[in-house]
Amino acid sequence: MDRADVLVIGASPAGMACTLECARLGLATVLVDSKRPDYVPSPANTVFEAMAKKAHMPLEPHLVRRWLKGMVIRSPSGRGIRVDARGCVLHRDRLDAHYIEEAERRGARVLWQHRAERLVVSDGIVEGAVVNGEPMRAAITVVACGVDCGLARLAGISPMRHPHDLAWALEAHVVGEGVGEPEYFEYTVGSVAPGWKATYTPLGGDEATIGVYVRRHGRDVSAFFERHLTRFEAEHGPVRVLSVAKGADPVATLPHELVCGGLMVCGGVCGQSGIAYGIRAGTLAAQTAAEALDKGDVSAAMLRAYVRRWRRELWWEHVVGRLSLEMLRRMRDEEIDALVAALEDYDTSRLRGHPLLKLAGVGMHVVRKSPLLALTLLRKISQGMT
Ligand SMILES: Cc1cc2nc3c(=O)[nH]c(=O)nc-3n(C[C@H](O)[C@H](O)[C@H](O)COP(=O)(O)OP(=O)(O)OC[C@H]3O[C@@H](n4cnc5c(N)ncnc54)[C@H](O)[C@@H]3O)c2cc1C
Repeated sequence: MDRADVLVIGASPAGMACTLECARLGLATVLVDSKRPDYVPSPANTVFEAMAKKAHMPLEPHLVRRWLKGMVIRSPSGRGIRVDARGCVLHRDRLDAHYIEEAERRGARVLWQHRAERLVVSDGIVEGAVVNGEPMRAAITVVACGVDCGLARLAGISPMRHPHDLAWALEAHVVGEGVGEPEYFEYTVGSVAPGWKATYTPLGGDEATIGVYVRRHGRDVSAFFERHLTRFEAEHGPVRVLSVAKGADPVATLPHELVCGGLMVCGGVCGQSGIAYGIRAGTLAAQTAAEALDKGDVSAAMLRAYVRRWRRELWWEHVVGRLSLEMLRRMRDEEIDALVAALEDYDTSRLRGHPLLKLAGVGMHVVRKSPLLALTLLRKISQGMT
């Protein structure tokens, strides 16, 4: 293949989904990734069923390690709100294999240990990338190479609105008697993990993962992890750490510029956080690529169809996510305790529909329970909008 229709950089969830959809639509597609084919799977392995459905993501039985009934959101003092929203822990290696094998079966070329070093730009249009020292030309390039990849910026676009707001994470796979048995994810918010959450994902039997995701305290979040581990062991008994994963979650960064001539960006690199929403964004980028190639027009104006589609489906999920996290980041532990207390009797099955409606529903409940607390929240939310 002298010149591909689409060159996808990065086998992230977004990149793999984009590659599969491009191949399904009959485009000559190449996916390059710098890692080895026998790579350690990403620690990102949980999804909620509703998000997966929205992303048209496969949750076939062989991909799922364990179903959980929902999540418990815990305040710093240990109060909890139970949300019955089914979610699962995936066999991440099998999910990746599903996308890669399907894409290859439909004709895509997947090249491991191929690192894109820079983009090839001619007259303001991206025409591929230099990969392992050699130019690899394509009509459309899709950058999906994760939060730490600077390639999109090299094309002169800034893909994240708030890049300083990455949540740096440390997650451990642990074993301890019965720690895998509970049937709910647990997310603790407040000073235990400022800016986002401390997690507990029971994997079944004696296995679990626990982690912290922290914003605005630097990349080294090990002190927060140690504190979370101490609290966890006090509650659940001693555990042994089998392995540790580190990385960054772009959940609060918000997508910004997603296209320029010949180029689309998707996944964590542009703040499209999470497996499911990355997969959906990658699929939408592929559909736009097919239309653009059909019309012989890869200009930024044409590729903006991807942005419009993505905004229609997912923009408000990201905005409400950021607003909520910014509100939490500004709250003291006592205020979070009061909020969780106010929501303990809230019927979370009403959390349906547009993300803004969900937020408004929760807000109205707090107004009824504690008008003063509602005022505090309103103030913190409005500060988060600036
Ligand atoms: C510890 C941790 C746990 C998480 N758990 C979850 C979870 O359970 N569920 C969830 O939905 N989200 C989770 N997240 C968030 C999630 O990781 C991301 O939002 C999601 O995986 C999106 O991945 P990504 O687009 O950032 O790309 P990544 O998954 O990071 O993939 C990027 C790929 O690009 C490749 N690459 C990078 N640079 C180049 C280059 N120059 N040339 C070629 N290839 C390149 C890399 O090798 C890599 O394969 C977690 C995040 C962290 C840090």
